[in-house]
Amino acid sequence: PSGSLSDKNVYEWSSEEEEPDGRARPIQVLLVKDDHTFELDEAALSRILLSEEVRDREVVAISVAGAFRKGKSFLMDFMLRYMYNHSSENWLGDASEPLTGFSWRGGSERETTGIQIWSEVFLVDKPDGRKVAVLLMDTQGTFDSQSTLRDSATVFALSTMISSMQVYNISQNVQEDDLQHLQLFTEYGRLAMEETFLKPFQSLIFLVRDWSFPYEFPYGQEGGMKFLEKRLKISENQHEELQNVRKHIHSCFTNINCFLMPHPGLKVATNPHFDGRIKEIDGEFINILKVLVPWILSPRNIDVKEINGSNITCRGLLEYFKAYIKIYQG
Ligand code: GDP
Ligand code: MG
Repeated sequence: PSGSLSDKNVYEWSSEEEEPDGRARPIQVLLVKDDHTFELDEAALSRILLSEEVRDREVVAISVAGAFRKGKSFLMDFMLRYMYNHSSENWLGDASEPLTGFSWRGGSERETTGIQIWSEVFLVDKPDGRKVAVLLMDTQGTFDSQSTLRDSATVFALSTMISSMQVYNISQNVQEDDLQHLQLFTEYGRLAMEETFLKPFQSLIFLVRDWSFPYEFPYGQEGGMKFLEKRLKISENQHEELQNVRKHIHSCFTNINCFLMPHPGLKVATNPHFDGRIKEIDGEFINILKVLVPWILSPRNIDVKEINGSNITCRGLLEYFKAYIKIYQG
């Protein structure tokens, strides 16, 4: 279903993972309430992660995080299309089909802060013969005021701790404050974890939306990496603060990547009646999307979640999720 859920609906729906017609849907598993407390829907999360087909499978958890209304859920819905159709050449499907899945049209409604996961966990055969479980996670944060920044930091930290890949969705460029936010959020996460000699988090992708300098750094991963290298470079004549942010980010993630996306066109950005059909999205965006999504999700590229050097199953992930949330609940 698309369109925002009211808080009431979130609670009512929490008891059932499927709509009456049996289709999968997003489940709000973590909710940040108005008084800044967190609510974990443990029952819903358990039903998803402990279902018989997946509970003992090693898990790949893909998360998308970043500020509100920058196209995170929109992107997630294309990831869902890939997960449902990736054996077919044309996984993007029909050009006039509305885009559904996680709700992506904001409008002026108040946005909740939290984490949603897709109720269906996908079983995927990796080329090495392993069958793994793939979990897709969408997050919502507002990042606008001091109080909500703290809420967003917790959501970001939790989703980074739980995922094997965090897609950090940012708009137009990698600004200094995007890096500072990332430092704050990962520091929040690191403090909550056991100290080890290993890097605390796995893979991070800086996903830059509406990139407008393709003549300097071309769209995609190669241009993205060259661009990021430049942005994350540490040099001696830099202010100490700038150096520290960069060192911190390097010390937190095993893999850091960057991908530059073109603007999807004015219909996507401004037309309130746009329903997500590919026909109305810029061709260039679709071409690069066809590279991005398999790059993140193809069976050969997905990595199993590791914590302290061990592979984690769905059952194990549930335990970590519960343990981590307790730390933030104080
Ligand atoms: P989220 O809050 O980050 O999950 O953002 P949504 O996915 O709900 O999208 C918010 C709005 O941005 C919608 O109106 C989308 O049509 C639009 N949108 C989606 N992707 C992009 C993009 O890459 N660039 C721009 N400028 N707008 C986008
Ligand atoms: Mg969203």
